[in-house]
Amino acid sequence: MTPAASETRIVRVDPQRPDRESIRAAADVIIARGLVAIPTETVYGLAADALNASAVARIFVAKGRPPTNPVIVHVSDEAAATELVSRWPMEASRLADRFWPGPLTLVLPRSPRVPDVVTAGLPTVALRVPAHRVAAELIAAAERPLAAPSANPSTRLSPTAVEHVLSGLAGRIDLVLDGGPTAGGIESTVLDLSSERPRILRPGPIARSALEDLIGPIEPVAARVAGDAPMPSPGMMSRHYAPRARLVCVEQDADKRVAELVRRGLRVGWLSFAEPVDSGPGVIAIQMPRAAVAYAARLYATLHELDAQSVEWIVAELPPDSEEWHAIRDRLRRASTDE
Ligand code: AMP
Ligand code: MG
Repeated sequence: MTPAASETRIVRVDPQRPDRESIRAAADVIIARGLVAIPTETVYGLAADALNASAVARIFVAKGRPPTNPVIVHVSDEAAATELVSRWPMEASRLADRFWPGPLTLVLPRSPRVPDVVTAGLPTVALRVPAHRVAAELIAAAERPLAAPSANPSTRLSPTAVEHVLSGLAGRIDLVLDGGPTAGGIESTVLDLSSERPRILRPGPIARSALEDLIGPIEPVAARVAGDAPMPSPGMMSRHYAPRARLVCVEQDADKRVAELVRRGLRVGWLSFAEPVDSGPGVIAIQMPRAAVAYAARLYATLHELDAQSVEWIVAELPPDSEEWHAIRDRLRRASTDE
């Protein structure tokens, strides 16, 4: 096993047309069992050779990730996915045809080739084909699947830019491929196809109804699990994707909540849909996009910015309770301290 990284190399790549030398350098790190942070179309991922247990174990060490939380395996195409499972149902084929490459992760019964550390000992493995050129070309150059959870310390905000990766993991990983900010902004939809009825484990950019159009009824997102209770999907921990500041979600009267916190002498960030009004010193008001896709692309970067400005509280106005906003409401709720 390579020693723990002490200096993190940063290599800039063109996100649309990454150069061969940079991809080769990153593939060599992967083959040597090192860790490489890479842009994907969702957030930055922290990649290692998925078929090498000691390489994947380093991901857990670098992130401080509990060994009970499995990681997603990124593959080049559907054929590569089928090599890592013991069953590939027709639903999986249909979904892969339509949504891969893209932000859809499928959970299926695993093949014995997948190391235990990847799946946290579960009988299933989570797979997706990333659409980002850098991720796709790294998988091709390394000629192996990549285990890649988000490139952030466990439970913290996912990174959508290289600064975020470095603020959490500098010195703990070998290399970062800097492809600029990631476009999607929130993590993939995770769909469990391993049991009798398909079930969404994590809402994401691909909506439940779009999946149902292809494969019929899907169980809604499994209820999230608090504290130390055992969970059907480890990523369902209720506090996750969280900023340093305490975050509260409000359905209405956000201005009143902000004013109340300011009266208590606290520095407050405010994710608002309205044009920012001058709320006085102590408030950083940010107008968020009114379209869900644009909001998702901005969300983590905005929370990272507010953390960098040392606000103590963040008041987030909840978007409408409609399908297109589902994943964003989920992430805001999980970032919050009030449940
Ligand atoms: P991330 O760290 O953002 O890449 O998160 C990966 C997500 O996929 C987490 O929510 C994990 O719990 C979930 N996941 C990965 N593998 C499995 C699996 N085999 N079964 C259920 N959930 C999984
Ligand atoms: Mg994560």
